[in-house]
Amino acid sequence: MHRQHIVILGSGFAAFSLLKRLPAKRFDVTVVSPRNHFLFTPLLPSTTVGTLEFRSIIEPIRVVRQGIAFYLAEAVAIDAGARRVLCRAALDAQPFAMEYHALVIAVGADNQTHDIPGVRENALFLKELADARAIRQRIIECFERASTPGLSGDERRRLLRFVVVGGGPTGVELAAELHDFVRDDLSRWYPERAPEARITVVEAQSVLLGAFHSALAAYALRLFRREGIEVLTHSKVKEVSPDAIRLHDGMEIPCGLVVWSTGLGPRPFVRALDFPKDHGQRLLTDRHFRVKGQSDIYAIGDCSVVEGENFPATAQAGRYLAFSLSRAASGKSARPFRYRHLGMLAYVGRHRALADLPSLHAHGMAAWLFWRSAYLTRLVSLKNKMLVLFDWFKTLLFGRDVSRF
Ligand SMILES: Cc1cc2nc3c(=O)[nH]c(=O)nc-3n(C[C@H](O)[C@H](O)[C@H](O)COP(=O)(O)OP(=O)(O)OC[C@H]3O[C@@H](n4cnc5c(N)ncnc54)[C@H](O)[C@@H]3O)c2cc1C
Repeated sequence: MHRQHIVILGSGFAAFSLLKRLPAKRFDVTVVSPRNHFLFTPLLPSTTVGTLEFRSIIEPIRVVRQGIAFYLAEAVAIDAGARRVLCRAALDAQPFAMEYHALVIAVGADNQTHDIPGVRENALFLKELADARAIRQRIIECFERASTPGLSGDERRRLLRFVVVGGGPTGVELAAELHDFVRDDLSRWYPERAPEARITVVEAQSVLLGAFHSALAAYALRLFRREGIEVLTHSKVKEVSPDAIRLHDGMEIPCGLVVWSTGLGPRPFVRALDFPKDHGQRLLTDRHFRVKGQSDIYAIGDCSVVEGENFPATAQAGRYLAFSLSRAASGKSARPFRYRHLGMLAYVGRHRALADLPSLHAHGMAAWLFWRSAYLTRLVSLKNKMLVLFDWFKTLLFGRDVSRF
């Protein structure tokens, strides 16, 4: 049988769901990514405060799928005519090129900053494990600095003000985890400082969690307000400085931490590709995930969009592409992709979650148990499942760790 060489760019959700299902006996597979692990992002907010440990939610690509070639590198350009992708090694910038029979672009997206001054320099993001580590470090540093004798009250309050910009699922889950951390753990170890801590969510729209059913979004808002998490809706950030954010209405919020989570924008690699894109600079594909105008280049995940549709990026695309590439390798065709909405989940703090499912809108503790079990079963390996379960029990019994190292 003629073996085809498939090159996959990226090691995120989309690439991973494809990689797991590509039949090894039929294809030679090469993965190129500057990140050598798969990251289970739905549980990433839990690592920012130590509910979960960092390594519990990652899985090395080489372990996930043995028998593939993996290069720690980023793609920099595509020569579609010659069926070559040009890459640069992540650690020493060594350039190299690779030929492919089929190329899958699954490089995800960048953080969207809307070119607001100071965001890149002064805010933290929440997309990678390194981001979560930086947030965790900063929270603890803010508490330690605020404990220094002789500090003015204003400076203490500034250090203990934590601002999350963006009221989507990531921003809300982060604020919820942060609130749990302050209430359950920091209040024990920093009893004088914790009551001064304030968490503020800044959202440009009129509601939090705009994609969720309105009753669930309203519940989250009520819960946040009841728990003392400040929510500023209709509020747009104008500038982020090292120690404050400024809103369009002139309000200035001095703070020790700003986490920016206002959506996705194109990666420079995708922006530079000379293929058709939508207004958000995502690659346009057909319902087989073939990049518009290309016969052997595919795009899945956050970097792409099916023309005329607005499906969210889900693992369904990777699964479908594995199936259709296998069919194509045997000379058969596959029916176009059909999206199935499976629902959305979000943690909102205090052991409560939202479950926005096709047949049910639920919130509260039962939804939280569902949230936990749904993600536990979706984790990649038995090792990850055991680590996450262990972390949850550890947090329940001993609390979250506040060490700085
Ligand atoms: C905190 C958080 C929580 C989330 N929770 C949920 C959730 O509960 N449910 C849900 O459905 N979605 C959730 N998402 C969204 C979900 O993670 C994304 O939709 C999904 O990761 C998109 O997959 P992707 O493969 O397109 O991109 P990513 O997962 O971002 O992967 C992109 C990959 O491409 C690599 N890469 C980047 N540039 C290059 C290059 N030039 N060459 C080669 N490789 C490159 C990156 O290193 C990375 O490995 C969450 C996201 C975050 C940040």
